[in-house]
Parts: sequence; structure tokens; C-alpha cells
Amino acid sequence: MNTTLDRFTLCRDCAAEYADPMDRRFHAEPLACEVCGPALSWHDGRQRIGGNAQALVAAVAALRDGQIVAVRVSVAIIFCAMRATSVAWRA
Ligand SMILES: [Zn+2]
Repeated sequence: MNTTLDRFTLCRDCAAEYADPMDRRFHAEPLACEVCGPALSWHDGRQRIGGNAQALVAAVAALRDGQIVAVRVSVAIIFCAMRATSVAWRA
């Protein structure tokens, strides 16, 4: 591949789609799948959880518990929180 993303190894299926001019994913740089795509892990100061599904379940549970979750990607950190559906407020 002739791209700055060539250090990310594609799986066999994604590599075939990337190289096929008749495929809708031909030379699509954000190409990835659950086999060769990003790997999630969960870290909360008490535990580390590997595996995409397990890490995602832990993140959703934290969000549902009212916590703020920081998602770190290669060059940025994204903060996530769930919007409250009802708020009890007293001054
Ligand atoms: Zn793939």
C-alpha cells in the first residue's frame, strides 16, 4: 500500500477489498474490520479489561452509572457521558 496508514496491517479480506478497483472499499484508508481493526481495552484505576466486547460493556456500564468515560484514540482523547433523562435540582 502507498499510504501513511500502511503500518496498520489489514486482514486478508480487508486487503483484498482495498486492492480491488471494483470494490466500494477500494483504497479506502479507514478500512478495517473486527479482525484487523482497533482493539479496545478498559482501564479504570482498579482493573484492566481486554477484548473489544468486554471493554465496551464496561464503558457502557460506567456511562449508565453516571460516570464520564475518556476514550483515547491515537492523537486525541474524547470525553463521553450520558445525558440525564431527568434532573432533580434544588437551589
Ligand atoms: Zn479486516
